[in-house]
Amino acid sequence: MKKVFIFLGPPGCGKGTQTDVLSKELNIPHVDTGSLLRENIKNETEFGKIAKGFIDKGQLVPIEVVQSVINERISRPDCKDGYILDGFPRSIEQAQALKNMWENSPFKFSKDEKVAIYFDIPTDVLVERLVNRRSCPKCGKIYNLKSSAPKNDGKCDICNVELVQRKDDTKETAVLRFETYNNETKPLLDFYKKDGILVQINANQSIEAVYNELKNAIND
Ligand code: AMP
Repeated sequence: MKKVFIFLGPPGCGKGTQTDVLSKELNIPHVDTGSLLRENIKNETEFGKIAKGFIDKGQLVPIEVVQSVINERISRPDCKDGYILDGFPRSIEQAQALKNMWENSPFKFSKDEKVAIYFDIPTDVLVERLVNRRSCPKCGKIYNLKSSAPKNDGKCDICNVELVQRKDDTKETAVLRFETYNNETKPLLDFYKKDGILVQINANQSIEAVYNELKNAIND
């Protein structure tokens, strides 16, 4: 059975939404690198101060910061039965760092228990998705103003608070984030293919259809 999941795909491919559902179903934590970094920025930690400038420019935050944040998170007791990595690794260098973390981790998982899922989707669909993305600052639920709009204009269906747009979800920063993705993250597909743990799914479908494909892929 798969226990450690690495979700790979360009910004806006829907991996965050799918992770939320899968992590609830499997009862394992959703380790979302972007959210962990944004939390550090909000709390004005040393890591947050470094990360801010890079995030605002759509660039990758230096590996020392990301590595520390992730290593601390996946060493917590709630990760002992597995976890979903969303947004890490994002470069070959980070994938090597992850291998080192696994070697030194208190929790060991075999190769058969690990899988890297690639959410495949055409780039032109993505800018549209990103600029329409909103989320609830309280519960984190993600909406799309076009395809999955909240019932009450601009407010979270669950918490009834005003939805917010991420600062880096503008068209300009989105384009920079795609560039970073193509240059740094895409080579990871070959990396995990060589490792024999890569599975590709079609992310250009409804949320339910993507989830079904995901479930079939991880149960194979
Ligand atoms: P995300 O929420 O996953 O779209 O990430 C938002 C931003 O956080 C990215 O554009 C990067 O600036 C930064 N970030 C997230 N994950 C990583 C990572 N693994 N390595 C470096 N920077 C990251």
